[in-house]
Amino acid sequence: MASHLIELVASLPLGSAVMLRPVRARGKVTTPPRSGQVPLANRHRQRAGRRYVSGAIMAQPPPCRRLGRHCRALDVTLRVAAIEGEEDHDATWLLGHTERIDFGPLFEREGELWCGATIHVPCRYFEEGEDGAPAHCTAHGYRGRPRKTVPERASRRAGGDRFEIVEQGRLRRRELPPPPPPPAGRPALPLAPEAANPCATARCRTSDNTIGSACCRDLQVDICCTTKERHLEALIRTRKAPYLCKAERENDDQLVVEIISACSFLTDIGCSLHGRKRRDGRPAKPLMCSAWPENRATLHTGCAYRNRRLKLHRVTD
Ligand code: SF4
Ligand code: SF4
Repeated sequence: MASHLIELVASLPLGSAVMLRPVRARGKVTTPPRSGQVPLANRHRQRAGRRYVSGAIMAQPPPCRRLGRHCRALDVTLRVAAIEGEEDHDATWLLGHTERIDFGPLFEREGELWCGATIHVPCRYFEEGEDGAPAHCTAHGYRGRPRKTVPERASRRAGGDRFEIVEQGRLRRRELPPPPPPPAGRPALPLAPEAANPCATARCRTSDNTIGSACCRDLQVDICCTTKERHLEALIRTRKAPYLCKAERENDDQLVVEIISACSFLTDIGCSLHGRKRRDGRPAKPLMCSAWPENRATLHTGCAYRNRRLKLHRVTD
């Protein structure tokens, strides 16, 4: 079937409904494995010999002294990828998810790519005031008017064939022409039923009940947060679910969290990068997006692979 899929992708015109899907971990899109680090899909849980502060304890209200910007959004540093040759793909993928995340410039540190980011998910104890009333912290009883934070919701689609992708560690605007049409007179290849894209009509959904393209609407990210940053960790662990949830300590320096923040390359007809090429000939679509889900047990609700019990196949773009 993998060869059918490859043939299908090669033969389809741009804008077809076919869209290959990102690698998942526990049913969610995940950053790729990095050197020296356990792949997210397997991370859970290699905690032998470690005892971290439990989620239950850290889910207590953060020890804040007042209302502030931190009630509506969090400024954090995200680990993007190890610099091993595919970091531009990984970074293009991550920086595409702009629905609730504003990304700062990428930077290198110790052989890895990082970036600053603002995650626009409020604290679960934060209540906006209605009709001009002050906002309210239901945990500590504070009232006030903290500064508004407005998500940029940057689009990586710049119009026409122009897109913002990461090249050589920098976000750059590039002209990425669509793939050439099939030669004139060449009939469309008949597709075997099993070669049809199972995701095109799937009623998969993310935990906020948004239906369709669930793999492109949520992600897992590594947030730089050491065990000593107790306030930051509490702020992260008490964000409003399901928009930021399932925080788990990866190691002494990082937390892994799940965020619902749709990819801005996603359109009504699928991934706008599909079939386009970078200047170096590599696919414009992140490599990690060109694989079917791998972990059957933890797929999104409504996922075609879960409901139809389809076999899982890895394909390349
Ligand atoms: S507990 Fe939440 S709502 Fe209350 S001050 Fe802290 S961040 Fe704001
Ligand atoms: S829209 Fe495209 S680039 Fe974005 S996550 Fe989906 S497949 Fe990947």
